[in-house]
Amino acid sequence: MPTLHLLGTGAAVTDPHRHTTMLALTDDASTLVIDCGGDVVQRILQAGIDIETITGLFITHEHADHVSGFPLFMEKIWLSGRRRSIPVYGIGPALEQAWRCLAAFNLAHHDLPTVEWKEVGHAQGAFVLSDDTWRVTVAPGSHSVPVVGVRVESCATNGVVVFSGDTEPCDSIVHLARHADILVHEANGSGNGHTSALEAAHVAVTANVKQLLLTHLPPDLDEAELKSARIQFPDTELAVELGVHNF
Ligand SMILES: [Zn+2]
Repeated sequence: MPTLHLLGTGAAVTDPHRHTTMLALTDDASTLVIDCGGDVVQRILQAGIDIETITGLFITHEHADHVSGFPLFMEKIWLSGRRRSIPVYGIGPALEQAWRCLAAFNLAHHDLPTVEWKEVGHAQGAFVLSDDTWRVTVAPGSHSVPVVGVRVESCATNGVVVFSGDTEPCDSIVHLARHADILVHEANGSGNGHTSALEAAHVAVTANVKQLLLTHLPPDLDEAELKSARIQFPDTELAVELGVHNF
Protein backbone atom coordinates (compact mmCIF):
# COMPACT_ATOMS: atom_id res chain seq x y z
CA MET A 1 0.00 0.00 0.00
CA PRO A 2 1.53 3.36 -0.97
CA THR A 3 1.93 5.50 2.11
CA LEU A 4 2.85 9.12 2.77
CA HIS A 5 4.95 9.75 5.88
CA LEU A 6 5.20 13.30 7.18
CA LEU A 7 8.72 13.17 8.59
CA GLY A 8 8.74 16.84 9.51
CA THR A 9 6.12 19.55 9.26
CA GLY A 10 7.70 22.76 10.52
CA ALA A 11 8.93 25.96 8.93
CA ALA A 12 12.47 27.33 9.08
CA VAL A 13 11.52 29.17 12.26
CA THR A 14 12.36 26.81 15.12
CA ASP A 15 9.39 25.09 16.69
CA PRO A 16 9.84 22.90 19.80
CA HIS A 17 7.41 20.35 18.37
CA ARG A 18 8.06 20.31 14.62
CA HIS A 19 11.09 19.34 12.54
CA THR A 20 11.78 21.03 9.22
CA THR A 21 9.48 19.90 6.43
CA MET A 22 10.51 16.48 5.06
CA LEU A 23 8.42 13.68 3.51
CA ALA A 24 8.78 10.04 2.55
CA LEU A 25 6.63 7.94 0.23
CA THR A 26 6.82 4.21 0.74
CA ASP A 27 5.47 1.16 -1.02
CA ASP A 28 6.86 -2.31 -0.30
CA ALA A 29 10.56 -2.10 -1.11
CA SER A 30 10.69 1.46 -2.41
CA THR A 31 11.04 4.69 -0.44
CA LEU A 32 11.25 8.14 -1.99
CA VAL A 33 12.47 10.86 0.37
CA ILE A 34 11.66 14.53 -0.25
CA ASP A 35 13.90 17.19 1.30
CA CYS A 36 16.49 16.86 4.01
CA GLY A 37 16.70 20.10 6.00
CA GLY A 38 17.17 18.12 9.23
CA ASP A 39 18.24 14.66 10.33
CA VAL A 40 15.98 12.90 7.85
CA VAL A 41 17.50 9.45 8.47
CA GLN A 42 16.60 9.62 12.16
CA ARG A 43 13.04 10.52 11.19
CA ILE A 44 12.96 7.67 8.64
CA LEU A 45 13.92 5.23 11.39
CA GLN A 46 11.36 6.76 13.74
CA ALA A 47 8.73 6.22 11.04
CA GLY A 48 9.68 2.52 10.95
CA ILE A 49 11.05 2.69 7.41
CA ASP A 50 14.00 0.47 6.44
CA ILE A 51 16.91 2.67 5.25
CA GLU A 52 17.81 -0.01 2.70
CA THR A 53 14.55 0.67 0.84
CA ILE A 54 15.48 4.28 -0.03
CA THR A 55 15.40 4.43 -3.81
CA GLY A 56 15.89 8.15 -4.20
CA LEU A 57 16.11 11.56 -2.56
CA PHE A 58 14.38 14.58 -4.06
CA ILE A 59 15.43 18.13 -3.11
CA THR A 60 12.84 20.81 -3.88
CA HIS A 61 15.13 23.85 -3.59
CA GLU A 62 18.34 25.28 -2.24
CA HIS A 63 17.21 26.73 1.10
CA ALA A 64 18.91 25.45 4.25
CA ASP A 65 15.75 24.07 5.81
CA HIS A 66 15.33 21.79 2.78
CA VAL A 67 18.87 20.69 1.91
CA SER A 68 21.36 21.33 4.72
CA GLY A 69 21.02 17.80 6.13
CA PHE A 70 22.32 16.24 2.93
CA PRO A 71 25.89 15.47 4.13
CA LEU A 72 24.43 13.92 7.29
CA PHE A 73 22.04 11.87 5.15
CA MET A 74 24.97 10.55 3.10
CA GLU A 75 27.12 9.79 6.14
CA LYS A 76 24.29 8.03 7.94
CA ILE A 77 23.20 5.81 5.08
CA TRP A 78 26.88 4.88 4.61
CA LEU A 79 27.27 4.06 8.32
CA SER A 80 24.09 1.99 8.13
CA GLY A 81 25.88 -0.20 5.58
CA ARG A 82 24.58 1.12 2.32
CA ARG A 83 27.08 0.87 -0.51
CA ARG A 84 24.92 0.98 -3.64
CA SER A 85 24.53 4.35 -5.32
CA ILE A 86 21.81 6.82 -4.42
CA PRO A 87 19.89 8.85 -7.00
CA VAL A 88 19.41 12.49 -5.95
CA TYR A 89 16.85 14.48 -7.95
CA GLY A 90 16.25 18.21 -8.21
CA ILE A 91 16.53 21.34 -10.31
CA GLY A 92 20.05 22.60 -11.00
CA PRO A 93 20.36 25.14 -8.15
CA ALA A 94 19.10 22.60 -5.60
CA LEU A 95 21.60 19.95 -6.71
CA GLU A 96 24.44 22.49 -6.75
CA GLN A 97 23.60 23.43 -3.17
CA ALA A 98 23.52 19.76 -2.14
CA TRP A 99 26.89 19.23 -3.83
CA ARG A 100 28.39 22.24 -2.00
CA CYS A 101 27.04 21.00 1.34
CA LEU A 102 28.58 17.58 0.79
CA ALA A 103 31.86 19.03 -0.49
CA ALA A 104 32.22 21.07 2.73
CA PHE A 105 33.04 17.83 4.54
CA ASN A 106 36.12 15.76 3.91
CA LEU A 107 34.30 12.51 3.28
CA ALA A 108 36.40 11.50 0.28
CA HIS A 109 38.37 8.93 2.28
CA HIS A 110 35.11 7.17 3.15
CA ASP A 111 33.49 4.72 0.80
CA LEU A 112 30.28 6.73 0.61
CA PRO A 113 27.61 5.56 -1.82
CA THR A 114 28.03 7.22 -5.21
CA VAL A 115 25.56 10.06 -5.75
CA GLU A 116 23.70 9.81 -9.06
CA TRP A 117 22.90 13.48 -9.70
CA LYS A 118 19.60 13.57 -11.60
CA GLU A 119 18.79 17.12 -12.71
CA VAL A 120 15.13 17.71 -13.53
CA GLY A 121 13.59 20.44 -15.64
CA HIS A 122 12.28 23.61 -14.04
CA ALA A 123 9.09 23.39 -16.10
CA GLN A 124 5.45 22.38 -15.84
CA GLY A 125 5.14 18.60 -15.87
CA ALA A 126 8.89 18.00 -16.13
CA PHE A 127 9.75 14.31 -15.84
CA VAL A 128 11.55 13.01 -12.76
CA LEU A 129 11.24 9.24 -12.82
CA SER A 130 9.02 6.35 -13.76
CA ASP A 131 9.54 2.82 -12.50
CA ASP A 132 7.43 -0.14 -11.34
CA THR A 133 6.32 1.75 -8.23
CA TRP A 134 6.18 5.50 -8.93
CA ARG A 135 5.61 8.09 -11.61
CA VAL A 136 7.00 11.46 -10.56
CA THR A 137 6.78 14.88 -12.20
CA VAL A 138 7.31 18.47 -11.04
CA ALA A 139 6.14 22.01 -11.67
CA PRO A 140 7.71 25.35 -10.72
CA GLY A 141 6.53 27.14 -7.61
CA SER A 142 6.86 30.86 -6.88
CA HIS A 143 9.43 31.50 -4.15
CA SER A 144 12.48 33.68 -3.48
CA VAL A 145 14.67 31.10 -5.25
CA PRO A 146 13.89 28.52 -7.96
CA VAL A 147 11.74 25.73 -6.53
CA VAL A 148 9.52 22.92 -7.71
CA GLY A 149 6.49 21.14 -6.34
CA VAL A 150 6.41 17.36 -6.73
CA ARG A 151 3.63 15.04 -7.95
CA VAL A 152 3.99 11.36 -7.04
CA GLU A 153 1.63 8.78 -8.54
CA SER A 154 1.45 5.20 -7.33
CA CYS A 155 1.56 2.59 -10.09
CA ALA A 156 -0.26 0.15 -7.78
CA THR A 157 -3.29 2.28 -6.91
CA ASN A 158 -3.04 5.33 -9.21
CA GLY A 159 -3.22 7.34 -5.99
CA VAL A 160 -1.62 10.76 -6.16
CA VAL A 161 0.24 12.84 -3.58
CA VAL A 162 1.38 16.35 -4.44
CA PHE A 163 3.79 18.39 -2.33
CA SER A 164 3.76 22.11 -3.06
CA GLY A 165 7.31 22.86 -1.96
CA ASP A 166 7.85 26.42 -0.71
CA THR A 167 5.64 28.67 -2.79
CA GLU A 168 3.16 31.46 -3.05
CA PRO A 169 -0.20 30.35 -4.41
CA CYS A 170 0.37 29.84 -8.13
CA ASP A 171 -1.33 28.34 -11.17
CA SER A 172 1.49 25.89 -11.90
CA ILE A 173 1.06 24.17 -8.52
CA VAL A 174 -2.73 24.17 -8.97
CA HIS A 175 -2.20 22.41 -12.28
CA LEU A 176 0.29 19.96 -10.75
CA ALA A 177 -2.18 19.14 -7.96
CA ARG A 178 -5.19 18.59 -10.23
CA HIS A 179 -7.43 15.80 -8.79
CA ALA A 180 -4.76 14.65 -6.32
CA ASP A 181 -5.82 12.39 -3.46
CA ILE A 182 -3.63 14.33 -1.02
CA LEU A 183 -2.24 17.83 -1.46
CA VAL A 184 0.50 18.59 1.05
CA HIS A 185 0.71 22.35 0.80
CA GLU A 186 2.89 24.73 2.69
CA ALA A 187 1.13 27.20 5.01
CA ASN A 188 4.08 29.23 6.24
CA GLY A 189 2.05 32.45 6.00
CA SER A 190 0.93 34.81 3.28
CA GLY A 191 3.45 36.74 1.19
CA ASN A 192 7.22 36.66 0.67
CA GLY A 193 7.11 33.49 -1.40
CA HIS A 194 4.84 31.60 0.96
CA THR A 195 1.15 30.73 1.38
CA SER A 196 -1.38 31.11 4.17
CA ALA A 197 -3.68 28.31 5.32
CA LEU A 198 -6.62 30.07 3.71
CA GLU A 199 -4.75 30.51 0.43
CA ALA A 200 -3.75 26.84 0.46
CA ALA A 201 -7.42 25.91 0.94
CA HIS A 202 -8.24 27.97 -2.13
CA VAL A 203 -5.58 26.05 -4.09
CA ALA A 204 -7.15 22.78 -2.90
CA VAL A 205 -10.59 23.87 -4.09
CA THR A 206 -9.31 25.09 -7.46
CA ALA A 207 -7.27 21.91 -8.03
CA ASN A 208 -10.21 19.72 -6.93
CA VAL A 209 -8.14 17.57 -4.58
CA LYS A 210 -9.63 15.16 -2.03
CA GLN A 211 -7.63 16.13 1.04
CA LEU A 212 -5.41 19.04 2.08
CA LEU A 213 -2.62 18.65 4.61
CA LEU A 214 -1.02 21.91 5.71
CA THR A 215 2.70 21.70 6.35
CA HIS A 216 5.77 23.97 6.71
CA LEU A 217 3.85 25.37 9.67
CA PRO A 218 5.02 28.35 11.69
CA PRO A 219 5.04 28.09 15.50
CA ASP A 220 2.45 30.85 15.75
CA LEU A 221 -0.15 29.49 13.33
CA ASP A 222 -3.29 31.56 13.51
CA GLU A 223 -6.19 29.32 14.64
CA ALA A 224 -8.72 31.72 13.16
CA GLU A 225 -6.98 31.38 9.80
CA LEU A 226 -7.18 27.58 10.03
CA LYS A 227 -10.88 27.86 10.78
CA SER A 228 -11.47 30.00 7.72
CA ALA A 229 -9.40 27.54 5.64
CA ARG A 230 -11.73 24.73 6.73
CA ILE A 231 -14.75 26.79 5.71
CA GLN A 232 -13.17 27.19 2.27
CA PHE A 233 -12.12 23.51 2.04
CA PRO A 234 -13.58 21.27 4.78
CA ASP A 235 -11.11 18.38 4.39
CA THR A 236 -8.19 20.50 5.59
CA GLU A 237 -5.91 19.14 8.30
CA LEU A 238 -2.77 20.35 9.98
CA ALA A 239 0.05 17.97 9.16
CA VAL A 240 1.09 15.97 12.21
CA GLU A 241 4.72 15.02 12.90
CA LEU A 242 5.24 11.44 11.68
CA GLY A 243 1.68 11.39 10.35
CA VAL A 244 0.89 8.46 8.05
CA HIS A 245 -1.57 8.59 5.15
CA ASN A 246 -2.30 5.81 2.66
CA PHE A 247 -3.16 6.78 -0.89
ZN1 LIG B 1 12.40 28.06 0.90
